[in-house]
Amino acid sequence: METPKSIVIIGAGIIGSTTAFYLSRHPSLGSAQVIILEASKSGAAQGASGKAGGLVAKWAYPNPLTRISFHEHVRLAEEFNGADRWGWRWVSVGEWEGRGAPRSNRRVGTAPEQTTSLQKKAGLSSPTTSVDRQAKGLPEDLSWVNANLTESFSLMAPPGDTAQVHPYLFTTSMLDLSVEYGVRLVRGRATTIERVEGKVSGVRYADSETGVESILSADCVILAAGAWCPTLLPDLPVTGTRAHSIVIRPPPNTPVDSVSPYVLFTSIRLPNSRRSVTPEIYPRPNPEIYVCGPGDTRVPLPQTVDDVQVDVRACDEIWEWVAETGVLESWALGEVSHRQACYLPIVSAGGGPIISAIPGTQGLVVATGHTCWGICNAPGTAKAVSELVLDGKIKCADLTALDLTRYL
Ligand SMILES: Cc1cc2nc3c(=O)[nH]c(=O)nc-3n(C[C@H](O)[C@H](O)[C@H](O)COP(=O)(O)OP(=O)(O)OC[C@H]3O[C@@H](n4cnc5c(N)ncnc54)[C@H](O)[C@@H]3O)c2cc1C
Repeated sequence: METPKSIVIIGAGIIGSTTAFYLSRHPSLGSAQVIILEASKSGAAQGASGKAGGLVAKWAYPNPLTRISFHEHVRLAEEFNGADRWGWRWVSVGEWEGRGAPRSNRRVGTAPEQTTSLQKKAGLSSPTTSVDRQAKGLPEDLSWVNANLTESFSLMAPPGDTAQVHPYLFTTSMLDLSVEYGVRLVRGRATTIERVEGKVSGVRYADSETGVESILSADCVILAAGAWCPTLLPDLPVTGTRAHSIVIRPPPNTPVDSVSPYVLFTSIRLPNSRRSVTPEIYPRPNPEIYVCGPGDTRVPLPQTVDDVQVDVRACDEIWEWVAETGVLESWALGEVSHRQACYLPIVSAGGGPIISAIPGTQGLVVATGHTCWGICNAPGTAKAVSELVLDGKIKCADLTALDLTRYL
């Protein structure tokens, strides 16, 4: 690939925005222009990248990508004060099993179709590698979970192996830091990647507000549109799974440190029911408590992120699982500030992500299919893509297993 003069990134989720950041800091960028094109009227991080949990874990996968990503997360947080800017902090992660308390005869709901696991625990070689699996008691400072309803608790990773970011703040910070170095954000939905004689020549797009079509010329196009990538490259083996989540604000006078930094992978036996549910719980320093449920495939991917349908009942059920069952202590629970849904990009053949030049079209690169680990693996992906585009090959890690040809 020749060193490009004008680069267009399609999609300002975490992958596109972090790629913009790494391109903007790459020594070989020279006078090349970088434009990031985002379909949402509300700007960056309106999809999965603004609605994810935010766990950064050494056990994420694929391993070579996570190794470089974890290191880069730590570096970025140190260099740009991630603690204040995007809620970076080290967290403990635990597996919590217990039961919900029967507060009334009412059944706490389980939407039967909500059964797709997000697979976040799949990378653990054993559930509790170097930590005492026999430990049943809750840590002293994990006071926001009801001890009486706890049946078992075990740490899933040693200290220093797990951290968190606020995904929306991380993504928008990456974009802001790129804009400071000359990257330009354009709000519009890419409709076609233009090609001339086997090379990319630009991106045709419809303005997000007016719908008016224009073309951005480019000699390099980076497709980072998450689950929407196949709308522009139909042969890509990528699909989307919807997932719902809620954000709970603790009551206003709750001391900031009282909801201590533990991410919990739960299994809750519901009262008045034989069902168990497995919401993931992420307290954040701002402070808020984010909770997500499993994925579903009930509603196909809409045209843009702004059209994603939120099933309010699915969000209410997440609240019922963790709050009405008494699993979370009532003093930590204020109001639900967000009821939301988004689509994770998934490689249909399994594995992923895909970080690759597109064979047969010079100047076209794709980075998507990060499943449940896109927040964790964004910095490594972005570094790799910036090298592929500006150095002609990925140098930071051996990512040949993520080349598109391996999936076709
Ligand atoms: C419930 C849930 C919890 C999660 N928790 C974690 C976690 O704890 N840790 C972790 O590492 N990962 C987590 N993830 C996964 C992570 O959120 C995703 O892997 C990641 O956000 C994918 O980022 P992306 O930039 O590829 O896609 P997106 O965030 O979907 O961004 C794609 C962007 O492209 C834009 N776009 C689409 N089509 C076009 C077009 N034609 N023109 C212009 N723009 C376009 C979209 O509007 C969007 O802004 C979670 C995901 C979910 C759903």
